[in-house]
Amino acid sequence: MKREGLIMIISAPSGAGKTTLCRELLKRFPGMRESISYTTRQPRPGEVHGEDYFFVSREEFLRMVAEDAFAEWAEVHGNLYGTALQTLEDARRNGVDLVLDIDCQGALKLKERFEGGAYIFILPPSMDELRRRLENRSSDTQDVIDRRIERAAAEIKEARWYDYIIINDRFEHAFEDLSAIVLTHHRKTFRMMEQVAKLFDI
Ligand code: 5GP
Repeated sequence: MKREGLIMIISAPSGAGKTTLCRELLKRFPGMRESISYTTRQPRPGEVHGEDYFFVSREEFLRMVAEDAFAEWAEVHGNLYGTALQTLEDARRNGVDLVLDIDCQGALKLKERFEGGAYIFILPPSMDELRRRLENRSSDTQDVIDRRIERAAAEIKEARWYDYIIINDRFEHAFEDLSAIVLTHHRKTFRMMEQVAKLFDI
């Protein structure tokens, strides 16, 4: 009996602290991997094909859509992004835990299409704090920051259909919450039975 991989979907408005939380999660759980999406956006300096994303042309992406190769896909900021069904099925079958950093539209499509998975939404402690974080962290213009805030307000409404909500007030607390969710899923009987069978010959 092979242990089934955990598929964790993590969404958050920009500025909620998702990137840092995900990075720490991968350190804390060494068996966990980031899902590699397909995208039509241009690679940024330093980004590697097959590591950060599979960078493909729009034609290639649309061909994959026509072939029903995506478990979900969405247009974000004018570019197409998608998670291949194969990526999820392989991970699940091979017992690999995957973290998917996808937007709300994609997460909702996935929930309708793909069974199982743990859906986690990370919130900032307040809209004021979100604005402060976005203003402090970047050299973005006020206009860009305002658009992010507007988008965040819309995304936050989507939190209601996720399985778990984490409020990232203090990083250590939020990380503890996130780790607890992972551990709960790891300790599910159906994931433990492979180990139990080895230990106790049952
Ligand atoms: P970036 O271009 O900055 O790497 O990502 C932009 C946005 O695309 C992020 O909000 C990220 O969550 C989203 N994204 C990345 N990969 C996927 C994917 O496979 N599917 C969907 N729906 N969104 C994605």
